[in-house]
Amino acid sequence: MKVWGCQMNVYDSDRVRTALSARGWEETSEEAAELVVITGCSVRAKAEQKVWSELGRYEPSWRKNRRPVVALAGCVAQSMGKRALSRFPWVRLVSGPRHIGMLPDGLQRVMDNPGARLNLLDDDPRAFFDLPEVTARRENPYRAYVTIAHGCDNFCSYCIVPYVRGRFLSRPKEDILREVRALVEDGVREITLLGQNVNSYGKDFPGADGPAFASLLRSVARIEGLERGAREPALRVRFVTSLPQDFTRDIVEVMAEEPAVCPSLNLPIQAGSDRVLKLMNRKYTYAEYLEKVRMVRSAVPGLGLTTDLIVGFPGETEEDFEASLRALEEIRFDLVHSAAYSEREGTPAATMPGALPQQVRLERLTRLNAAQDAITLSINQGLVGKTYPVLVDSYAPRGPAPTSKPGGELCPPAPPTGGRPLQGRTPTDKVVIFPGDEALLGQFVNVRITAAESWCLHGEVVR
Ligand code: SF4
Repeated sequence: MKVWGCQMNVYDSDRVRTALSARGWEETSEEAAELVVITGCSVRAKAEQKVWSELGRYEPSWRKNRRPVVALAGCVAQSMGKRALSRFPWVRLVSGPRHIGMLPDGLQRVMDNPGARLNLLDDDPRAFFDLPEVTARRENPYRAYVTIAHGCDNFCSYCIVPYVRGRFLSRPKEDILREVRALVEDGVREITLLGQNVNSYGKDFPGADGPAFASLLRSVARIEGLERGAREPALRVRFVTSLPQDFTRDIVEVMAEEPAVCPSLNLPIQAGSDRVLKLMNRKYTYAEYLEKVRMVRSAVPGLGLTTDLIVGFPGETEEDFEASLRALEEIRFDLVHSAAYSEREGTPAATMPGALPQQVRLERLTRLNAAQDAITLSINQGLVGKTYPVLVDSYAPRGPAPTSKPGGELCPPAPPTGGRPLQGRTPTDKVVIFPGDEALLGQFVNVRITAAESWCLHGEVVR
């Protein structure tokens, strides 16, 4: 199972893992594998190019011994699956994000029938919900994602998601609650509710007079076993991603009132200029966005706030770009997931006039990242000396932490005292690296922050 892209791809793959292991399949190394399932993202052109070159890599081994069989899943399959199926004989199955529920049966069919080549892209989208829930097989035993809705109806002018993931489709509330309960029983201590726009949840239900995310979030936060003011938290809940125009006061109230809900929020701004926001077909102004930020910050003190921002959109002037820089200074996000605009074929923005040279896009990205790195570092340095409850979810990665930002500061691992460094996240979703015993994995521990970098914190366990 090879997974690239967002957490929705991770979640989809975990469900497929669970289904396949229930049928007796075993996950193994790539060298030994008879079947490789690639689940990928197509939001950026670069990710698609990566999958394309990855598929080409299997040619020598296919020519030599007719293995491995390759299946392509996720939104990357929706956008390039048919081309991959016709070009590479080793690609024997393609399945879009909404057909992933049919993947286990499809994989069985292609492995049982050497001549079979399956295209599941045009099948029943509801099949996704037929997959077994993720319990036994997960990437991380202590943290789990739960998809609450698929697709998107917003058609931002740069985005391919509505075309590859389809229309917005909410999952029944009882299914979600049942899955969360099963995960809690299986040892999961942190749940992230997932969707392209989680806070639009339920607006597609028959007879709905608006989104029902606040009510869902409260129900999840009250599931038995979740933290409810206990001294030792039992489990906590996050959600990602939120659509600014659907981020309403009732959600903020749940965040403020339910101890299990983490004080962290990703609220994509995308641009600081109203002119660019309009071109992007985002349905808010900068002032309206700022108002949402003020509302949530006043109700949830110490909130960890992150955002997504695109630079170099077609027609973006230097003045527009500076409006984005001013937004960073004014709002002071904890972290910005930034990207230089890249054309996605089939979206309105791809043919808009005023496309900027790559060099300008990258130069703006570098300037934006430098400005944000300084803000992030200064926020993080202000946390030194504070203590947070941290869920110890894994060992820290060896070597420098990964960064997607050119010029971004790397975090060296914590000093090697007390064995291999551990890693966890604060309630505000900041990564903390600290020395500790592996018996702490899966536990909540109090960690005092001793040093800060742009991309992570370092700390020590406080008894
Ligand atoms: S809200 Fe806009 S950016 Fe987000 S998935 Fe939908 S179309 Fe894409």
